[in-house]
Amino acid sequence: MSTLWVGTSWKMTKTLAEAEEWAGGLRDHLAGSAPAGVQPFVIPSFTATTTVRGVLGEDSPVLLGVQNAHWEDAGAWTGEVSVPQAKDAGAQVVEIGHSERREHFGETVETTRLKVAAALRHGLTPLLCIGESAEVKESGGSSAFILEQAAGALAGLGEEELARVVIAYEPIWAIGEKGRPATVAELVDPFAALGEEYSGRVAGLLYGGSVNLDNAADLLGIEHVTGLFVGRTAWKLEGYLELLRIAAAHAAA
Ligand code: PEP
Repeated sequence: MSTLWVGTSWKMTKTLAEAEEWAGGLRDHLAGSAPAGVQPFVIPSFTATTTVRGVLGEDSPVLLGVQNAHWEDAGAWTGEVSVPQAKDAGAQVVEIGHSERREHFGETVETTRLKVAAALRHGLTPLLCIGESAEVKESGGSSAFILEQAAGALAGLGEEELARVVIAYEPIWAIGEKGRPATVAELVDPFAALGEEYSGRVAGLLYGGSVNLDNAADLLGIEHVTGLFVGRTAWKLEGYLELLRIAAAHAAA
């Protein structure tokens, strides 16, 4: 079975003290090794990147990410952070194309493509988020829409580069406070479409959107799903640890 990626983005939450507490608790719980078959990752705000790296330590089994990075290596891009800067701060993963960035910050298929390429160029793992709106879902176009988002962002990559990419399918209607949890039945077709194109070719095909302790095991049971990308449920360390346990049990089954 593929390694199950289980991680969280903290979005725009947590002070440095809160970040330290969460990361320190995770470090102590794992005591140097990830649960068998599970790849944990955490994506704090930029401000907490070096703090979390310091708390986890250089050899941590937990991958550290940033929630965005610019495609240029350096230059006159006020307010932006580059992939080399993120790497310098200890990041190994770059989240790209979250729906909130597409909606509020002008992220497009073209900018996601440039950012995926920048992450790969510097040896970081691109975590590409894709997902359709409720309107697209209602029109029956979910699979075509997400395949187009993925194909645009991954255009031109060779198989070796593709093998370093993680894709997270996060339907917009299912994420965050305003979202509602997707049912397994609703996710079977989108994952069948993604699986047909990318299963075995990318490092992970994750599901994200209102993942909680009650639905996590069922979500991991969907064909082609190889991990979970989680917001609210994992912001409390106990929630994240429980998700790691659920994933470990799934990996062992
Ligand atoms: C998200 O916003 O990407 C997300 C997965 O959040 P939540 O788990 O809180 O729905």
